[in-house]
Amino acid sequence: LHVLLLGGGGREHALSAAVAASPRLASLTVAPGNVGMATLPRTTTRPGFGGADDPAAVVALAAEVAADLVIVGPEAPLVAGVVDALEAAGVPAFGPSAGAAALEGSKAYMKDFLARHAVPSAWYGTFSDAGEAKAFLRSRVATDGGGRCVVKADGLAAGKGVLLCHTLAEAEAAVDAMLTGGAFGAAGSTVVIEEFLDGEELSFFAVVDGAAAVPLASAQDHKAAGEGDTGPNTGGMGAYSPAPVCSPALAAKIMEEVVGPTVRGMVAEGVPFTGVLYTGLMVAPGGDVKVLEFNVRFGDPECQVLVARLASDLLPLLSAAARHRLADEYEVWGGGSATTAAAATPAKARLEWHPHAAVVVVLASEGYPGAYKAAVGSVISGLDTADALDGVTVYHAGTAPLKGATDAPPAADGDAAAGGVVPAVAAAGGRVLGVTAVGPTIAAAKARAMMADVVRSAVYPYAV
Ligand code: ATP
Repeated sequence: LHVLLLGGGGREHALSAAVAASPRLASLTVAPGNVGMATLPRTTTRPGFGGADDPAAVVALAAEVAADLVIVGPEAPLVAGVVDALEAAGVPAFGPSAGAAALEGSKAYMKDFLARHAVPSAWYGTFSDAGEAKAFLRSRVATDGGGRCVVKADGLAAGKGVLLCHTLAEAEAAVDAMLTGGAFGAAGSTVVIEEFLDGEELSFFAVVDGAAAVPLASAQDHKAAGEGDTGPNTGGMGAYSPAPVCSPALAAKIMEEVVGPTVRGMVAEGVPFTGVLYTGLMVAPGGDVKVLEFNVRFGDPECQVLVARLASDLLPLLSAAARHRLADEYEVWGGGSATTAAAATPAKARLEWHPHAAVVVVLASEGYPGAYKAAVGSVISGLDTADALDGVTVYHAGTAPLKGATDAPPAADGDAAAGGVVPAVAAAGGRVLGVTAVGPTIAAAKARAMMADVVRSAVYPYAV
């Protein structure tokens, strides 16, 4: 297969490493890609490509590289309709249509959808009018919620448009800020007010082809910038998989109560979902699950730990989903056991997982998620020794070739710059690297990740 992968972060580095390892791969083009992908076999990057959100530009690039499959990493191209354009051009694409991507893009749409299909979720109300919102606070929130609720901007607000309110006064202030004060701009011109859920958060991933679903695995992430869950929320400072709370019974319950009805509901509403359905859930102490949110793509950095645990070839799975042939080629959820298949039917693939746990520790520039200018251009040391550690893989996110160190293509991890002792790679973003490690337990995997020199580097300013 000739594959085009869109994106350039740590998630895409993990995906490209998995795809590049596939015996089914003929060529992989990653646009724009990143420095870390330079050493992958059969892989080229397009560092200058800025058109991932432009459907016409993506269709043109797919034609240029004769792509049989396009894999979309981030959400923005999905919302922009890249998959719709590729499908219209006859190119199989892994990711949802713009219509189906609304499961992530609009909380009001998502909540209404869940209500229509009886998928368990927090009770809620949707408002554009501050007076009506406050009336809901004084009625439902005061009685059923004891004054506690969560106020959310409807649109995408980079994880910042969610306010956990412990009192009615806090909730009224949040409503005023969004609906009257213009906080979060258009994203906050509609708010969702919902039940404050207690419990443990869990992420669950499934690959969907429009009609059928294959469960992947569970993960949990660290959102706060600082050690011990302190500081502002980020895109994600780390993750591990599997989540200890996710027993096989709980995974089955999530498929039964959430993923299955969602996939069928999208079909019934004429917007079948293809891609990764990433479900954010709250698991109540009694084991009940409620949907907090959907994402319509792999998480970053959760993707890194899922890839580290998957023993099967990822490429044919994504290809089968993009061609809407999961049920023909894979054992899908609810598809019946393989033993009932007629002898003449070719065996369907079943995903295999390594028994180990995986942890990713994200290294970010000092100051992230705020201004982090000071660290940009910092030399990164220790990449070579980190990658040489058994069970450790370093995925790049915000790196760049070190200016002036070499004119050659971006140095491979571990290539010392001529005459120097450091690899020719510099920090060039907020989240810079993800050190991913596996081990028999989460604690062992984390300990191994923390052994990597790059994590302890004195040269490179980092936060763990
Ligand atoms: P992100 O994509 O960064 O997770 P988002 O803007 O999509 O953010 P949500 O996932 O809806 O927002 O909420 C962000 C966080 O707020 C959740 O991860 C959870 O910790 C908390 N949260 C959201 N809704 C609730 C709720 N109903 N009860 C308790 N906590 C909640």
